[in-house]
Amino acid sequence: MITHAKPVVAFDLVIFGGTGDLAMRKLLPAMFRRFLDGQLPAPCRLIGVAREQQSTDTYRQRVSEALRKAVKEDDAIARIDAFLGMVSYHPLDATSDTGWEDFAQDLKSIEDHVRVFYLSTSPGIFVDICERLRQHGLNGEGSRVVIEKPIGHDLASACEINDAVGAVFAENQIFRIDHYLGKETVQNLLALRFANVLFEPLWNAAHIDHVQITVAETVGVEQRGPYYDHAGALRDMVQNHLLQLLCMVAMEPPASLNADTVRDEKLKVLHALKTIDAGNAGQVTVRGQYRAGSANGQSVPGYLEDLGSPASDTETFVALKAQVCNWRWAGVPFYLRTGKRMPHRVSEIIIHFRDIPYSIFAESSGRISANKLVLRLQPDEGVKLWMMAKYPGPGGLRLQSVPLDMSFAEAFGVQQPDAYERLLLDVVRGNLTLFMRRDEVEAAWKWIDPILAAWAESPDSPRSYTAGTWGPSASVALIERDGRTWHDDDH
Ligand code: NAP
Repeated sequence: MITHAKPVVAFDLVIFGGTGDLAMRKLLPAMFRRFLDGQLPAPCRLIGVAREQQSTDTYRQRVSEALRKAVKEDDAIARIDAFLGMVSYHPLDATSDTGWEDFAQDLKSIEDHVRVFYLSTSPGIFVDICERLRQHGLNGEGSRVVIEKPIGHDLASACEINDAVGAVFAENQIFRIDHYLGKETVQNLLALRFANVLFEPLWNAAHIDHVQITVAETVGVEQRGPYYDHAGALRDMVQNHLLQLLCMVAMEPPASLNADTVRDEKLKVLHALKTIDAGNAGQVTVRGQYRAGSANGQSVPGYLEDLGSPASDTETFVALKAQVCNWRWAGVPFYLRTGKRMPHRVSEIIIHFRDIPYSIFAESSGRISANKLVLRLQPDEGVKLWMMAKYPGPGGLRLQSVPLDMSFAEAFGVQQPDAYERLLLDVVRGNLTLFMRRDEVEAAWKWIDPILAAWAESPDSPRSYTAGTWGPSASVALIERDGRTWHDDDH
């Protein structure tokens, strides 16, 4: 395996919520992989914090079990003990003053480390944590804070969180994470658009017919029912992940990769989105909720059974048609779709080019499909460019659509790093390019809030769809009314 890992400066990573699902499943395994690649300098400290009383030894044992689930190779497993030497645990209740003095002293025992505070807890205690970090002088220049979605459940609550965190940390110390931006394919979108001459001249309404962004999960709500029922797919996925992907596709070429330059361009896209409200939500949005069906060949219950509740109007599926109102994208719909209990787990962006203006081929040569550029974020990150080619051999000129297929894993001979690996080290480096700025999060909510209001006013409930299907039939109708179809045939 070829690696080009550059070590970062020594740092302390404090994970508030260090015993939680995200810490155990994503954050600590991500740090372990960076350790295996030799990217963590020896004096780094990884400190788990939660209320539960337990010793560092017990915590290390739990981390070790989590790493064994995440990493399968024998030579990696053999290095778990060396990694655990960096890991410690500090019991602390973020909502109480007890224990903070000792915790602060411990951190300050090494002054020159970059300090990263990862708030992997419910947003309800972000303010408590930040306020106590300030009281104990832990918010100085070398400190950074990472906040996870959801950043609020509407514009007003997002502003409250941003105000509270912003009262303690400067904007350039705040890393609002959207792990989709850490995915290789998303960064490759920058490379594809701005490191090649091929695509940018075509990247506009004159050559692109429409764009589709699909983020489909096969899982249901699992144990997250109580959280999810207050959120729904629009808040949980569209407000952050799908809109961020839309921005990366639609933004103008930034003058540099400087964080604010890129984020300025993304913000302009959010500001250019056509409002969806009670006047048009019925035509351009579809919400659905899964009923019992099947997933991975097994029968699965519906959303209400998963939730253990007789009724809920929370959507587990959204499809919508967004419009970016500017010169580049006038008249080019962006169809966004996300849902739980879909037939496949897939996240992809499809750039659907226009049809050729005139065909010189006989009808017997076959149908000429428009070119499609498919950027797949998961699984198997990669890029496919669908092109027309001649079917080989004699027998007349027969045309067929074939993909130029680039799997990144095959092309570069490396396993794709998990998004958190990249993003956590970007935090240490102080590189904000792949993190959301305050005004982006708020602009996204400003667009989402009228959709939520329109749905709340509507007498209609989410439409049912059977688990294991691509959502309600109204989602198919949404795109077919425009003479287009969802790109579902390649999974
Ligand atoms: P979780 O499994 O419920 O873990 C919550 C953690 O917070 C636990 O370690 C808990 O430990 C700790 N905690 C709760 N109250 C505390 C307090 N007063 N003081 C200190 N620690 C406290 O949650 P999660 O799934 O890891 O998610 C964490 C955050 O990331 C949430 O905001 C979630 O929305 C977001 N997120 C999660 C995922 C994911 O895949 N899990 C993905 C995206 C975003 P104690 O109870 O012992 O204190």
